[in-house]
Amino acid sequence: MTVYLVGAGPGDPDLLTLRGAEVLASADVVVYDRLSVASLLDLAPPDAERISVGKQPGGPRTSQDDINALLVARGRTGQQVVRLKGGDPFVFARGGEEAAALAAAGVAFEVVPGITSAVAVPAYAGIPVTMRYSSTSFTVVTGHEDPAKGEESVNWEAVAALGGTLVVLMGAARCRPICERLIVAGMAPDTPAAAVQWGTRPNQRTLRATLATLADLDPQPPATIVIGEVAAADLAWFENRPLFGRRIVVTRARPQAAALATELRRRGAEAVELPTIAFEAPKDLDRLVQAAAEVGRYDWVVFTSPTGVNRFFEHLRDARSLGEARVAAIGPGTAAALADRNVAADLVPEQYVAEALLEALADEVGSDWPGRVLIPRAETARDVLPEGLVAAGWDVDVVPAYRTVSPAPDPAAAAVLADAEVITFTSSSTVTNFVDTYGVDAVPKVVATIGPVTSATARDRDLEVAIEATDYTVDGLVAALETFFTR
Ligand code: SAH
Repeated sequence: MTVYLVGAGPGDPDLLTLRGAEVLASADVVVYDRLSVASLLDLAPPDAERISVGKQPGGPRTSQDDINALLVARGRTGQQVVRLKGGDPFVFARGGEEAAALAAAGVAFEVVPGITSAVAVPAYAGIPVTMRYSSTSFTVVTGHEDPAKGEESVNWEAVAALGGTLVVLMGAARCRPICERLIVAGMAPDTPAAAVQWGTRPNQRTLRATLATLADLDPQPPATIVIGEVAAADLAWFENRPLFGRRIVVTRARPQAAALATELRRRGAEAVELPTIAFEAPKDLDRLVQAAAEVGRYDWVVFTSPTGVNRFFEHLRDARSLGEARVAAIGPGTAAALADRNVAADLVPEQYVAEALLEALADEVGSDWPGRVLIPRAETARDVLPEGLVAAGWDVDVVPAYRTVSPAPDPAAAAVLADAEVITFTSSSTVTNFVDTYGVDAVPKVVATIGPVTSATARDRDLEVAIEATDYTVDGLVAALETFFTR
């Protein structure tokens, strides 16, 4: 019933407000602009209609009248409409006109303010818009009008006389005439000036100069220009994060990719997801169901992946079925998946590979001779563990809990891989499937793996491994990437 004019913030998706996320989550229609961030659109329900009204490069621009009419029409049908706008909807965003059109048509609307780039973009470049004593005001002005043409509504003489900090939005294309006009109007040519391009995004770039020289650096839109003493401040933090600006491909399966991508983004990377494995039910599901029902008959249940844990427990009807069985996990990720099911692993080897797990279990033989062990795992997997346990006299049942399959090639892959600098492989199958699907030539320059088994597979496929985790976990992989790029 309501049209929400929502500020999306300057680009970093984490700068959306809680209220903005809430109304997006129940939107029927999202009307968005060209610079809108894809992951914010993903917050809307999958079946919500998404309408782009931004000007595509080379394409037509939807006129403001048409946008107003669209919002009114959709509002009238009783749909929940979110009009997503960059920064704040009422700061140089024509949100005022949209609200007026809705009000005139009697359509209910609400405004969800956003973080404006006028303040947030300088902040991400390490420039505070005010400083006690030296910059006691800031003025935000549009650079959209050409000051050389003399027909603008901005009074540049008055602006030049204001003192304090001047923030110019939409000024990249007219940087030179604006700076020249301010100098003519009396501002010192050596006044510090900065232009922050693509602020708060992984490709943020800060150009630092003076009023006289900024235009020589040829700032490109979208850019926020800051003029004044504060522009000399260099309290950089965003651009200093260890993985800043690195485009890193995550090939893990969809449900697990997000956690790795989030860790990479926190360190400044632009993480892009291109899953090369997916999980399906095993061919013989009945066998898994039966093994789950009889699990209490085993001395040990050994899990070699979080997915194995999740699939097994989905079929465990009664927690008490576990009985006296002890539980081993190959590594901390698998142990964490068990902990999520309120099962504390009895054994996690010091090194997170099958060989180490085998050794650790072998030490248990004495107490459980002849131990019965259940291994619910991927349909195809290395035989090191079961064969080793059998050789040690254990009675071993390997039960497929899931199948690892290669998803269909992603039509967006070329775009995802373009400019990617690093690719992460978190298992041998991610390597194999990636190379089989996209070819060796599509592999980005820097290959990073979770451990030696995955590295060996990568080398088998003629890839040069630049980074290998010393701790064979996702956290270990992130740490190795950080070390590689900060050394
Ligand atoms: N309503 C928006 C401003 C819209 S005008 C807000 O409150 O932020 C568009 C201008 O905002 C751009 O020309 C540029 O000057 C600035 N801008 C928006 N996003 C930006 C970004 N990520 N980095 C730098 N400047 C940005």
